[in-house]
Parts: sequence; C-alpha cells; structure tokens
Amino acid sequence: MRWIMASLGLLTVIVVFSLAALDQKNVVWVGDEPLCPHCRHEVTEFASVCTSCQRAFDWKINEVPCDACLSSRDARFYLHKVQANAEAFEAALQQAGIEKEQLPGFLEYAESLKEGRCGYCGGSGEWLAPGYQERTTGDGGITELYPLMRDYMNGKCPVCFGTGRCVLCDGDRMVEIGRESAKRDLLRVSKMGARIDPLRDERSAGAKFQLLDAYVRNHRGRGEVRKVASFDQISERHIERALARRRFIEEIILTLP
Ligand SMILES: [Zn+2]
Ligand SMILES: [Zn+2]
Ligand SMILES: [Zn+2]
Repeated sequence: MRWIMASLGLLTVIVVFSLAALDQKNVVWVGDEPLCPHCRHEVTEFASVCTSCQRAFDWKINEVPCDACLSSRDARFYLHKVQANAEAFEAALQQAGIEKEQLPGFLEYAESLKEGRCGYCGGSGEWLAPGYQERTTGDGGITELYPLMRDYMNGKCPVCFGTGRCVLCDGDRMVEIGRESAKRDLLRVSKMGARIDPLRDERSAGAKFQLLDAYVRNHRGRGEVRKVASFDQISERHIERALARRRFIEEIILTLP
C-alpha cells in the first residue's frame, strides 16, 4: 500500500512540474519587435529560446494597428468635410483630371468613407475608375501586364479582389504579425515568382497571377501582405495602389474648407 502512495505522490510531482514547464512565459512584443520575456533581449522571429539568456519561452503572434486604411475618427472627419462641401469636392475631382463618367465612383467612394475599407475601391469591391492614374509611369504606373490584370479581375478591385476590406487588416484595423505560415508562404511565393517571366506567354502570366491571388486570399489581415509584389504595377508592392488612391482622395478632401 505504501509503495502505491509513494508512486502516486511521485506521479503528482511529475505532472505538476511538467505542467509548470509547459506554461512558459510568452514572447513580449514591443510594436513589431519580439523580445525575450526574461531578459528583454530581441529574439529571432518564431524562436522559442533566447540566444542571449538561453531561457525558453513560447512564441505568440501579435496584432498592431493598421496604417493602410482610415481610422473611424479620420473617416468621420473626412466624411463631414465632403458632405459640407459637396460641390467644391466634385469640382476639385474634375480639376484633378477625373472624367465625367468616372465621377460617380469617386463620389460614392467619398460618401461612404468608413474605417477598415480598401483604399482603392473604398469598400465597393469594384475596379473604380479604370485608367485613371494608371497610364503613366511612377506612382500608379502600369506595365504591359495591365490588360491581363483587367481581364483576370473582370471589374473587381485589383487590390482587395472584391471584398471591399482593407487587405492589410482585413477590415478590423488590426494587423496580425508573427505568424510563421505567412512568412513562409511569402518566401515561397517570392522565390517561385522570380523564376517565372510573366511576359513570356499567357500561361506564365497566369501562373504568376495565381501566386499573388492565392497569397492575398490566404493571408489577408497579416503584415506580410504589405510586402507582396504587384502583378502589373511599376510600383513594386501590391498594396501601393490602395495607398496611392487613398492619399489622392485625402489630399483633395484636405483642400476643402
Ligand atoms: Zn533572454
Ligand atoms: Zn478594394
Ligand atoms: Zn487596414
């Protein structure tokens, strides 16, 4: 009987110690920097042992505020400005070179400003004003692949692919960082993409687009989306189109009284 009690006691001690060992401290995030929870030294991404103090910890993903879309405070401020100066806003858009048939899209964009929306389509999920700022090189410039992109999207927004939500935060204004699969897939997509010349033939172009499409669909809302290469834009990042369009609208609104 005594040995049974002794074994049970020993077992309890083992279980308690194992549980204690399993419940390690989590990595500490300061902004987008992962730090050791014991010594606060910066740690390698996705690591579970600190190279400085050699102690173990648990890796944990983090969330940071999105800077690619409007906050509710900014959205309300801009919306109020547009509504109070509707005529001046329309005139400023025309002054900026927006053609008559493209105006309704931009007006709808401005009248439905809201936090977490895609900066390119403003939430409609549609390819707003095709051709506008898409002919020149530089900001918003296009490559020979542009007509193909138009075909693939079939009227849908070339940044959010039709969801209407900001591609970086997926609409909730929080961007997930530190997820290993997002980084792994980004490296894979970049490597595979570098081996494909999309200008060689349509199959190659299609394969290259598929890489982008799958990445954005699988990882929207994660920080790595910011680094994905554009398919048809001279600016190198996929998200740049949305940032440029958002800057454009904001600058016009800010000129209003
Ligand atoms: Zn440490
Ligand atoms: Zn969009
Ligand atoms: Zn966002």
